[in-house]
Formats: sequence, structure tokens, C-alpha cells
Amino acid sequence: MNGGSCTHIAAIEDIKSATAHVCAECVKIGARWVHLRTCQTCGVTLCCDSSPNRHASKHARAVSHPVIASAEPGERWLYCFPDDVFAEY
Ligand SMILES: [Zn+2]
Ligand SMILES: [Zn+2]
Ligand SMILES: [Zn+2]
Repeated sequence: MNGGSCTHIAAIEDIKSATAHVCAECVKIGARWVHLRTCQTCGVTLCCDSSPNRHASKHARAVSHPVIASAEPGERWLYCFPDDVFAEY
């Protein structure tokens, strides 16, 4: 991937896609989400920053998994939290 100044995105060769179209944390607590993102380090799918619980960015900070991909149908982009870099693929 071409991640510009981001070495995290540059290191990604295969995009991990969502295995289930739900937020893995919201389903446990019965919460709603807006959009879904898939962690490119461990493959977990979590909710975006427009969602009340922001599980994807919490996960990224908590376990230092920097890059997410959109899990929304038709969207093909990656985002790196520490570098604040978007990349389409
Ligand atoms: Zn990065
Ligand atoms: Zn969530
Ligand atoms: Zn992860």
C-alpha cells in the first residue's frame, strides 16, 4: 500500500476484511453503531468515531494497533491513527 509518510500502511500487503458486519464490542452491551472499521493488525471489527462508543479508536489506542480499514460496503480505504493518514486502495 502507498501510505505516504506512514510506515504502518506501507507494510500492509493484504487487507483484512470484516468477518461479521457487527461491532464486536457493541453487540456485547447492546449498543448501536454508525459505521464499522476492521483492525488491520488483529482483524477485529469495531465501530467508528461517529458511533457513541468509538470502539475502533479505543482499541487502536489500548493495544497499539495503528491501522483500520473501512468495513462499509463499497468503501476501500485505510486509516492510521498515530500518523493520521488516509490511504485508498
Ligand atoms: Zn502509520
Ligand atoms: Zn462499538
Ligand atoms: Zn486490533
